Amino acid sequence: MLNNSLIELDRAHLVHPVASYRGHEKRGVRVLKSGRGASVTDSTGHTLVDGFAGLWCVNAGYGQDSIVEAATRQMRELPYATGYFGLGSEPAIRLAAELADRAPGDLNHIYFTLGGSDAVDSTIRFIRYYYHAKGTPKKDQFISVEQGYHGSSTAGSGLTALPVFHTGFGVPYDWQHKIPSHYAYRNPVGSEPQAIIDASVAALRAKVNELGAERVAAFYVEPIQGSGGVLVPPKGWMKAMRDVCRELDILFVADEVITGFGRTGPLFACLEDEIVPDFMTTAKGLTSGYVPMGAVFMSDRVYNTIADGAGMAAIGHGYTYSAHPVSAAVGLECLSLYENGLLENGVRAGKRLTAGLQSLADHPLVGDVRGRGMLAAIELVTDKQRKTPLPAAADPSRRIFDRAWENGLVIRAFANGVIGYAPPLCCTDDDIDRIIDRTQMTLDQTL
Ligand code: PLP
Repeated sequence: MLNNSLIELDRAHLVHPVASYRGHEKRGVRVLKSGRGASVTDSTGHTLVDGFAGLWCVNAGYGQDSIVEAATRQMRELPYATGYFGLGSEPAIRLAAELADRAPGDLNHIYFTLGGSDAVDSTIRFIRYYYHAKGTPKKDQFISVEQGYHGSSTAGSGLTALPVFHTGFGVPYDWQHKIPSHYAYRNPVGSEPQAIIDASVAALRAKVNELGAERVAAFYVEPIQGSGGVLVPPKGWMKAMRDVCRELDILFVADEVITGFGRTGPLFACLEDEIVPDFMTTAKGLTSGYVPMGAVFMSDRVYNTIADGAGMAAIGHGYTYSAHPVSAAVGLECLSLYENGLLENGVRAGKRLTAGLQSLADHPLVGDVRGRGMLAAIELVTDKQRKTPLPAAADPSRRIFDRAWENGLVIRAFANGVIGYAPPLCCTDDDIDRIIDRTQMTLDQTL
């Protein structure tokens, strides 16, 4: 009864993110009621393993009492403090310092946002400001990678290279450019790692050459492309791209909104890739989805150029909720959980997840298995030899998502027949085994 009326209210009033509005009205909402560890329960009492940690964000898992207590304590003491007028709050200052301490290289300056899209959007503004401050304002062209996702803000959606974020909106803009993805499974240069790296390096050089290096501001990458279908570049790809940017005097932005905070193993994927970007964007695992927050990390060089360029003038970029103290208190507690066992558990569980998914590689529908740590995908095909995608007309992603749901598993079913996994880092062996068993059951039903 309650459920039915909620479905009606949802249909009438709640506009959902990235959804077919008419399709959603037809199907009706599934209401999630509670969560504990790696599991969630819906309003009908159906309990599922959350193989996707919400939206690749609940890295710490559900029901972490210490996070709830940190937020409650901060709300009681001081629920809000602005960063305007030279004011601040203790948790925000402490979180910035702790993050700078753990960030790669000289990424010592942290600007807090409300999530990933506005973190990316902020980098676009900071980068423009940086070049104005340097006296090279003509460097105003931005390059990103096909199949990349960098949020859906007005400017950032153009760096995103997924058609659904462009069609009907009039983006990308003429200052936004793309190079092909490293997508190993379907790469015209084949799957040999060095060939893929060489092709990407050549594509970036060619694009910069076409635009003129004196006009190119920045190059955006995800250490692993998430929303494009969990596309893992070969080892050394990030470093090779970073080196090209340094040589051609282009800022390098690592978008770690998904990969940050233990998703691939370490606190940041850039640490494993052994690179120091000029900017790093994060969100999601920063507060593990308990409250909204994102963070832009800036290098000393970038920060000082911006600061010196402005002198004593104000730099007009900021939000009412920049560096929100409750979010910062949650961020500090998440950091403590990561470093007191969660990262370690994530690495262990990630190995089990990889091995489990690899064991499905012989399934007639599985064309590719890929991932790193607790971020993985299988790509489904109807013909392994030809790598034939599932027929789009049958809306395979919807059917697979629904079947997995009935089998007690939340997955991300991408439109192109890719199934994505990003479970909470707190997963037990049983949780991982359930993810694998229920995936197998779902695939068998899809044959
Ligand atoms: N950047 C990347 C790499 C992402 O995966 C996402 C979201 O999934 C974003 C940016 C946007 O973050 P948000 O949804 O918090 O705005």
